[in-house]
Amino acid sequence: MRSSQYLLSTMKETPADAEVISHQLMLRAGMVRRLASGLYTYLPTGVRTLRKVERIVREELNKAGAIEVLMPMVQNAELWQESGRWEQMDAELLRFQDRHQRDFVLGPTHEEVITDLIRREVTSYKQLPLNLYQIQTKFRDERRPRFGVMRAREFLMKDAYSFHLSQDCLQKTYDAMYQAYTNIFTRLGLNFRAVLADSGAIGGSVSHEFHVLASSGEDAIAFSTESDYAANVEMAAALPPQAERPAATQPQQKISTPNVGSVDEVASFLGLTPQQIAKTLFVRAEPTDDSSAPAFVALVLRGDHQLNEVKAEKHPLVAQPLTFASDEEIKALTGALPGSVGPIGLNIPVIVDHSAAQLADFVCGANETGYHLTGVNWLRDSAAFDTADLRNVVAGDASPCGKGSLEIRRGIEVGHIFQLGDKYSQAMKAGVLNEEGKNQILTMGCYGIGVSRILAAAIEQNHDEHGIIWPDAIAPFQIALIPMNMHKSVRIQQAAEQLYQQLTEAGFEVLFDDRKERPGVMFADMELIGIPHQIVIGERNLDQQQVEYKHRRSGDKALLALDAVVAEMQ
Ligand code: ATP
Ligand code: MG
Ligand code: MG
Ligand code: MG
Repeated sequence: MRSSQYLLSTMKETPADAEVISHQLMLRAGMVRRLASGLYTYLPTGVRTLRKVERIVREELNKAGAIEVLMPMVQNAELWQESGRWEQMDAELLRFQDRHQRDFVLGPTHEEVITDLIRREVTSYKQLPLNLYQIQTKFRDERRPRFGVMRAREFLMKDAYSFHLSQDCLQKTYDAMYQAYTNIFTRLGLNFRAVLADSGAIGGSVSHEFHVLASSGEDAIAFSTESDYAANVEMAAALPPQAERPAATQPQQKISTPNVGSVDEVASFLGLTPQQIAKTLFVRAEPTDDSSAPAFVALVLRGDHQLNEVKAEKHPLVAQPLTFASDEEIKALTGALPGSVGPIGLNIPVIVDHSAAQLADFVCGANETGYHLTGVNWLRDSAAFDTADLRNVVAGDASPCGKGSLEIRRGIEVGHIFQLGDKYSQAMKAGVLNEEGKNQILTMGCYGIGVSRILAAAIEQNHDEHGIIWPDAIAPFQIALIPMNMHKSVRIQQAAEQLYQQLTEAGFEVLFDDRKERPGVMFADMELIGIPHQIVIGERNLDQQQVEYKHRRSGDKALLALDAVVAEMQ
């Protein structure tokens, strides 16, 4: 590709409205442009990277026995009414009507459509198991779209759905998908962790999330320093009472007994409707100082669904009036605190209801507009909510498995796999004739990967002050060919054209920077875009029939003989 015939669209300045580095760099490197809130156009460089990610995802899924389909993004409401999610989901589900006043939704996920397909197409146990996937645009009217494609409203997801007649069979596919995900994120060159997760709004029992470790991650994950134990913080916090675990080493604020309140209790306490609460944990915390006042910490997981199965143990609520405040009010309250209503928050609004004596201890904010709590002292915010705090609030020092202590890190959720059981198949009556000739309801699994979010997650992990450093597997181009002052030198032009042809013929994806630009501009752009290998052609080296090679990640440079470049690059 010649830059002169390409849409490079790089930018020198950092856009003011981009909060996290990946968003800034995706804009600056000419990968995406914002159309409206949570809606992005992918420019050519963005598309190339997206396709690379898709290709790896496809290859590994095909290897795992999944088969590709493509379902419509627009879905009729009847299916959602049948599954019950028409009522369960809030405004995140975008609903609209066609010209005949019939209700439709823009698919945030495709359980209903695929279950409908399978109940029509599959009638016998002989056709099972099946694992179908698609790579398709999703729409979720996120409460707070942000960080560019990381939390967009329209985004690209790989979603797969498997169908079985037994739990054993589901488990086998689940394990194969777990392995496929591990292969995918490994091939993508990402530093990631699979963690135990809560299955949330989608339903079901067993579930794992795959997180790319990054300080800007919206989620917190906990893992043991000495075993394979890893969970997202909701799960870590929901595990056995701290008292049953080995003693914590030196927590500032030790958790004694986590008590879970019922949804109705918590909802009325917080002035929310039960539908607004996914899960609430009240954790009794022992103050570190001599004050005997008890302190209670509530972790409220907000969600779009009703959760009516909270195993309720009574919790001693501290009656202190708390009201919700807007971002603006919180900003005013927190004053000069940097990032006080931080762009980088946890997915879990943490509400601290501390007895008066302890108010100065710690407080933090929710990260959703209009859902910050007031009535407490605002000392810290979600952005400043660091690892040490989380350890105290959520997990204490000891790992629930008894081995090692818990590390808490931030993660970006890039994949999520679930064992759904019969939630959808039961509601939508998806069954087949089994070996005994009887109708049997299917058992399902579902498996998502945030294809477009991966771009942002990869950049969060791979960048420096000059720009993106793509892992080789997903770089938009493999080689940047940079001739210096080509338009003033026939010799350079000839060498560049020849190298471009040779490298392209050898199968490399080359970005040939043939613009009439100063070398400095070209270097800066190629560094910014993050192409892994650079070849610079200059007069002086050409005298020796040489060109300069530079490795983007290490910065290592070497001189290569002109006629050995293709061989060296292989
Ligand atoms: P999150 O917790 O970040 O809101 P989720 O748990 O709602 O994500 P899932 O329903 O598990 O998302 O969807 C599967 C995958 O789709 C997620 O693991 C994530 O990588 C991706 N994804 C979800 N929401 C978005 C979004 N708004 N923008 C980009 N990718 C998303
Ligand atoms: Mg979500
Ligand atoms: Mg999630
Ligand atoms: Mg998820």
